[in-house]
Amino acid sequence: MLAVLFATSEAYPLVKTGGLGDISYALPRALCQAGVDVRLLLPGYPSVLKALSLQIVHDNIKLLPNLPTMRLLQGQMLGDTNLPVYVLDCPQLFMRDGGIYQDQYGHDWHDNAQRFAALSKLAALFATHCFDFKPQVIHCNDWQTGLTPAYLAQMPHFAKTLISIHNMAYQGIFPAHLLAELDLSPQSYHIHGVEYYGSLSFLKAGLVYANAISTVSPTYAREIQHPEFGYGLAGLLASRRGQLTGIINGVDTDEWNPETDAHLFKNYSFKTIADKTENKRILCEKLGLSYQEKQPLIGMITRLTAQKGLDLVLSILPEILNEGAQLVLLGSGDKTLEMQLQHFAAQLPYKVSVTFGYNEALAHQIEAAADIFLMPSRFEPCGLNQMYSMHYGTLPIVRKTGGLADSVVDTTPAHLDQGIATGFVFEKDEPQELLRCVQRALLVYRNPEMWRAVQQQAMAYDVSWSSSAQQYIQLYQRLL
Ligand code: ADP
Repeated sequence: MLAVLFATSEAYPLVKTGGLGDISYALPRALCQAGVDVRLLLPGYPSVLKALSLQIVHDNIKLLPNLPTMRLLQGQMLGDTNLPVYVLDCPQLFMRDGGIYQDQYGHDWHDNAQRFAALSKLAALFATHCFDFKPQVIHCNDWQTGLTPAYLAQMPHFAKTLISIHNMAYQGIFPAHLLAELDLSPQSYHIHGVEYYGSLSFLKAGLVYANAISTVSPTYAREIQHPEFGYGLAGLLASRRGQLTGIINGVDTDEWNPETDAHLFKNYSFKTIADKTENKRILCEKLGLSYQEKQPLIGMITRLTAQKGLDLVLSILPEILNEGAQLVLLGSGDKTLEMQLQHFAAQLPYKVSVTFGYNEALAHQIEAAADIFLMPSRFEPCGLNQMYSMHYGTLPIVRKTGGLADSVVDTTPAHLDQGIATGFVFEKDEPQELLRCVQRALLVYRNPEMWRAVQQQAMAYDVSWSSSAQQYIQLYQRLL
C-alpha cells in the first residue's frame, strides 16, 4: 500500500486561512478513499489540540538546537474519514492567540522561521524511519514545509519528496543568520540551495531539493516559469520543468453541494433551480439589501489582497450598480480595501453589502444566493470559489489566469452549442475589460433561457477530487 505523509500548516475543519486549508483536507481524504495510506502532519495550534482526541506517540523529540524537546501526537481527523493525523506539540511555538501566521495586528509572528522549520524537520524525520509510520513519499505544501527536502538532503533517508506550490507569492523569506539555528548545513547556503538574494527562502529550498514539484493548475505551472508570476524563482522553475506538474484542485463535494449544504436557507439541484432564488431572497433580507427576483446579485468571497483584483472592482463598481446589479461581499485582509468597500456600502446600503471577517456559513449562503460570482484575480494558482460557484449554478466571471483559465469556459455561441460554457472570461487586468465582461454576463442574465442553459452546463462540470487524486497517485508512483 502506498504510504504518504501529507505535511501542511493548515487543514479544514481544524484550521484554515485559505485554499491550502481546503485542499489539505479534501485531497488526503480522496487519497484515503482511493486506498492510499495517507496521514496528515499539522502543528499543534490551540484549535487542533482542542478538536482532536490525541495520544502521545513520542514525547522527547529534539528538532532544533535552541528549542525545547517536542511531542508527537496522533489522532483521527474529524468527519467521516479514517484519515490519521499527526500533530507537532510544542506550546512555545504554536499555543497562542491570534492567527496561525500572524498576530492579532496582522504582523507576522517573530518566530515563524523556527515554527515552520520545526514542522519541516519533523516531517523529514518520518523519512528516516524514526517512527512507526514509514512513508514512501513526503508531500510538502508551500513554504511552511519547504525546508523538509533541504533537511533530507543532509541526512540518510528512505522517502521521496514532492512539494506542492499553492501560491508563489508567499515564500517564507528569513534572515541568513538563522542558518545554524534552523539546523541547516553551511553547504546549503548557496545559489543552488536555500540562499535567496542574501536571505533564506523556505520555498526555494523546497523547489531546489524536492524530487518533484507540483502546482495546482496546468496554466499556473506554465505561468510561474515566467518572471511576471515567478517571484524571482521563474528561472529555477524553468530549469526544473521536467519535474514540474500542474494538477487542478477538486472541490470537496460533501462540504459544497447545494442539494445537501446545511448552511443554505433552501437546498436545490438543477432540477429544482427555482429554489435557488429563495436563498437570494432570504440573504438579501438578512443583509438589508433590497430584493427583487430579477435583479442580479453579484457575490464575492475573498481575501482582500492586491492578488484578487479588488481595485478593478472598486474602480467600476458605480457602473456595475448602474446596470441594476447588487453586490454582496465577504472578505478579510487589507484595511485600506476594507475602508473603500465600507464607503460604498455606507452610501448604498440597499445595493452593496460588505461583511469583514471569516464566516464559513455566510460563504456558503453567498454561493447559493448570488447569480454571478466575481473573481477578477491578477493571478490565481487554482482558485476554489469559481468551482464552488459553477457547482451552485452561480456563474463565475473570471480573469483568464491560472486555475481560472483551466476551469471556466467562456460563454460564447460556439461553447454554448458544444454544451461546455460555464461562465464568463476576460483577459487583461483592466477595469474596462472587466466592466465589458460584467455587461456581457448581465446581457445573458436577462435572457432566462440562455442563463438556464449555462447554469446547467456549469452545474454539470465535474469539480470532484476523484480525477485529481488519481493524478497525484500517478505522480507518487512515478517518484517511486
Ligand atoms: P486563496 O487560497 O487564494 O485564498 P481560494 O479560492 O483558493 O483562494 O480559496 C479560498 C477559500 O477560502 C475558499 O474556500 C473561500 O470560500 C474561503 N474564504 C476566503 N475568504 C473567506 C471569508 N472571509 N470567510 C469565509 N471563507 C472565506
